Parts: sequence; structure tokens; C-alpha cells
Amino acid sequence: IEIVGAPIFNERDMLKGAVLLLYDITHLKKLELMRKDFVANVSHELKTPITSITGFTETLLNGAKDEQESLDRFLKIIYDESYRLQGLIEDLLTLSRLEADEFKIARSTVDMNQLVQDILPITEERAKQKGITLTSDVRDTIILKADGERIKQVIINLLNNAISYTPEDGAVNLTVTDEGGTVHIQVSDNGLGIPQKAVSRIFERFYRVDKARSRNTGGTGLGLAIVKHIVEVHDGAIEVESEPHKGSAFHVYLPTNDPASS
Ligand code: ADP
Repeated sequence: IEIVGAPIFNERDMLKGAVLLLYDITHLKKLELMRKDFVANVSHELKTPITSITGFTETLLNGAKDEQESLDRFLKIIYDESYRLQGLIEDLLTLSRLEADEFKIARSTVDMNQLVQDILPITEERAKQKGITLTSDVRDTIILKADGERIKQVIINLLNNAISYTPEDGAVNLTVTDEGGTVHIQVSDNGLGIPQKAVSRIFERFYRVDKARSRNTGGTGLGLAIVKHIVEVHDGAIEVESEPHKGSAFHVYLPTNDPASS
């Protein structure tokens, strides 16, 4: 709380009283803390791959490049870390665009069957590499007014997570159903699951249940923050059901029509 005070005098210049103004600045302070936290997190996330890129480049320049095995191994690390950096920057840009006040979603007619057909080849490849069975089921013809590219991103992020956090030979399923005015998208897996106390936090930027594992899978820690944002600008909702070692199910609910135009 911030306090601003001023004395009040009577006509003979004698102190009569005082005015005290109490400003509640908790909200502002909180925002300021969040901003500082975010900058610190971003800096840390950027620093980690850069440190490793400069370190391994230096080692190569200092002679390791003459040894074929080290050359191959270090170049692979440098490539992977650059790739992670690229992903992180793309995710940060997406988030900041979503957060910009002028951000407006471009709603058009989206055919969910078509949309799922467009993204499956990308994720099927990843699933196959890990020996994960990926199934999908889009019941009926489902049409909605939405930003198709953003909705694709929601499903891709959820499917990628499901694949990342499910051990080999696991199963991931995508189901889309029309619930009368609402499209229900469900992505479920029989993977690691999420501890109860972490469920409410996974949509925060950079929050990870297991930092090391997320890094190994190439995660930026921003995927679900982006998903939540996109769902919210569509006036939709997202819910999670999860049990450790059993699996998780993410449910996205989107209105079929643009609420603003009805
Ligand atoms: P990341 O890049 O780390 O995957 P996300 O924002 O996409 O970042 O997810 C945040 C965290 O939520 C992940 O680090 C992981 O711990 C947890 N998580 C997300 N999806 C799943 C899932 N399907 N199964 C288990 N844990 C998950």
C-alpha cells in the first residue's frame, strides 16, 4: 500500500487534521514482479543454449575438429541447441503477438476434418519415430468460425506434448466432437501424467514439471501458455484431467460461432 498524506490547517494556521490517501498498489507490484520474472526466465532460457553453442564451437576451434568423432558429436549438439533457440524465439514472438492489444483473430469457416488431415502427417512422423500409436477420430462434419491457423497450433502443441511425455510404445488419441454449439477437442495419452499440485501451473510460461525432461524433448516451456491464450481469444475453455503414471487428457471447448457476431 502506498500512503500519501497532507495536513489541514484552520484559518489561524493551526493544525486541524490531515488527509490520508491509501493507494492499493498490490496489483501493480504484482505485474511488475511478473514482468521481472519473465525477463529473468527468458534470459536464462536463451543463455543455456548459447553457452553450449559457444562452448562447443570453442572446443572445435581449439583442435577437436580434427577428430572426426568429436566433430560429428559436437556439431550435432550445436545444431540441436540452435534449433532449440529458434523454437524458443518463435514461441516468444507468437506469445507477444497474441498479447499485443491489437491482436485480433482472423475468423473464417474452418472444417475440422480438413484441419486434422492437414496436421496429422507432421505429428504422425514424430509419433512413429517413438513407436507411439497415434489415432484420430473426427466425428461428423464439424464446421466452426475460428482462426484455422491458430487452432492448428493448439492441436499440434497438445499432440506434441502428448508424444513427448508418453514413453515408447504408448498411445495418443485425438478426438473432435460436435456438442451442439461447442466443438470439443480432446487429446489424450497414456503417458507420464501430471502430479495434482502441478496441474494448475502447467499453463504458466516456462513452468515445467520436470525441467530436464522437457529440455531433452526440445520443449520451450511456452507451448501450453500459447495454447491457453489462443483458446481464450476464441472465447473457449481448456481443462486437464491427469493421473501420474496413467496419462493425461486435455479438453478444449470452442464455440462454433463467433460470439461477437451473434
Ligand atoms: P514444454 O515445452 O516444457 O513441453 P509446455 O508449456 O508445452 O512446455 O508444457 C508445460 C509442462 O506441462 C511440460 O514441461 C510438462 O511437464 C507438462 N505437460 C504438458 N503436457 C503433458 C502431457 N501430455 N503429459 C504429461 N505432462 C505434460
